[in-house]
Amino acid sequence: EDTYGIDAWGNGYFHIDKNGEVIVTPSGEKGGSKVSMMQIMQDIRERGWSLPVLLRFEGILYSRIKAINESFRKAIKEYKYTGDYRGVYPIKVNQQQQVIEELSTYGKEFHHGLEAGSKPELIAAMAFLNDPEALLICNGYKDEEFIDLGLSARKLGINCIFVIETVQEVQLILKRSEKLGIRPVLGLRMKLSSSGSGHWKESGGDRSVFGLNTYQVMQVVDDLKAENALDCLQLLHFHLGSQLPNIRDIRNAATEACRVYCGLAQEGAPMSMLDLGGGLAVDYDGSHTNSNSSCNYTLDEYARDMVEIIKGVVDEAELKHPRIITESGRATVAYYSVLLFNILEVSKFSVAGDLPEVEENSHELTSNIHYTAKSITAKNLQESFHDAIYYRDEIRTLFRHGQIGIRERATVEEIFWYTMLKIRERMGKLRQPPRDLEDLESALSDIYYGNLSVFQSIPDSWAIDQLFPLMPIHRLNEAPTRNGIIADITCDCDGKIDRFIDKTDVSPTLPLHELKDGEDYILGAFLVGAYQETLGDLHNLFGDTNVVGIRFDEDGELEYFHELEGDTVADVLEYVEYDPKDLVRRFREMAERAVKKQVISGPERKSIMALYQEGLRGYTYHEPENA
Ligand code: PLP
Repeated sequence: EDTYGIDAWGNGYFHIDKNGEVIVTPSGEKGGSKVSMMQIMQDIRERGWSLPVLLRFEGILYSRIKAINESFRKAIKEYKYTGDYRGVYPIKVNQQQQVIEELSTYGKEFHHGLEAGSKPELIAAMAFLNDPEALLICNGYKDEEFIDLGLSARKLGINCIFVIETVQEVQLILKRSEKLGIRPVLGLRMKLSSSGSGHWKESGGDRSVFGLNTYQVMQVVDDLKAENALDCLQLLHFHLGSQLPNIRDIRNAATEACRVYCGLAQEGAPMSMLDLGGGLAVDYDGSHTNSNSSCNYTLDEYARDMVEIIKGVVDEAELKHPRIITESGRATVAYYSVLLFNILEVSKFSVAGDLPEVEENSHELTSNIHYTAKSITAKNLQESFHDAIYYRDEIRTLFRHGQIGIRERATVEEIFWYTMLKIRERMGKLRQPPRDLEDLESALSDIYYGNLSVFQSIPDSWAIDQLFPLMPIHRLNEAPTRNGIIADITCDCDGKIDRFIDKTDVSPTLPLHELKDGEDYILGAFLVGAYQETLGDLHNLFGDTNVVGIRFDEDGELEYFHELEGDTVADVLEYVEYDPKDLVRRFREMAERAVKKQVISGPERKSIMALYQEGLRGYTYHEPENA
């Protein structure tokens, strides 16, 4: 049984093998080279890496670029579309050098380019994109330096295109272009009246903070005409938002954009490119629905729909089919990274098996909750639930007022949890459990403490309740016997994961295994390659995790490369303005004062200092004993 839905969200990259371990097939193809996650675990442990560790699979990145390009190629052929397709990867989605390096290497075959939204991103892109056939699309606000850099890139043969986001930008670009003697290629970013659904719906539509409305679009056209520069305007861009779950929204937006594209051509601009922005969604929960963590369309369907719509509208206007550009980020890199972390310990939810007896002279409310617990039937689950909560809260009030003792309160708490367990047992048999009782599952679950920071490694799970596939990478032949939530090691009550992918809906708990003495229990957070690394923060000063790149060489042999040590304690302290040398100096002075007062001896000072300095050099996460 596929308890964790891996066959639905794994997309051909992740499976369970007959040994009950998760295996990765980076090519996503049947018969492609594959490796067990536990094998990787063992190998990287032997090489001295501690968990948590982020694995990046080079082959998955290549497979994604190939899939996107081939889907468009197929659609173009099917519809006899006469324009071509060029993908650009938006750097913001995962800016790590390894990603950009691999993208520009593997993307060459498809002339896959880059999208930059800021000066640092542009500067990174200029150093890696050395394919004149690929595009470098520049979105975002641009100052003089940004523009000069982009124009210089054009001079070097990089096909750099400025997308105008504000009316004012036009004059600045034209001024700099005249000064440097380099003619720019321009695009317009427009605000569509159509908007999408999902977490990022505000990115599109009239309320979007980016882009030009129709009136401003015409203003830019008039400004360009006045400056004799309308010949520079060749591209129209829109971005409806990321992770668009519903294909209907995308179709509507593309249709509206096509009309604007044709309008611009009719105004006399030599339009030749239509940039559909990002938004191509990832099916994180494998449900194939229009829920926020999924999408109701496939990659092939997306490509076909876009080609069909553009062809239809442009043919009607009797214009040449434009080059289609997409800025798909999430769909390119989400599958690429997996975070592995170990469970440090489990806090089990348990109460004694039997209903505790109550003393004869107990408070009336205590007898009442006891009666409630005894009288649960399938018909009164909701009533028993409400009664138990009421009596427990009343008893707590009495305790605060000193009217009952600690033992009686403890008995009442035990009766309360016994009641909840009994209600849950009976609830399991109901087809439609009452809504009120939905939270019961997580209240009665175990807490598995994971060696990770949710804020650093999967921030969207905390920030916007995004679902990521999470599951053990081994012991998958054993039926999980516990239900748990994951707590991280930050001291923040939000540092937990209590929403999980479930076949029918979102589940408040995850089926997990009992820990075994002396054996690691390792979980993977999958599909974390998009946005998570950069959006991650230093909450509680947990830093970047260790990173290991994984690929197969030409002979199909597994290869570990691009190993990056995660932040040390000294690194993260420096990020927040401490100077590690100064810390050591201050601490040494403190230790010396203790020696002077004979609180510690000289040798004790030496070992305490060694510990402090070792701590500064260490990993910010929980390290194994004898590491
Ligand atoms: N293009 C622009 C202008 C964006 O703002 C974004 C991100 O939201 C993207 C592309 C990437 O979107 P996605 O990751 O959904 O493909």
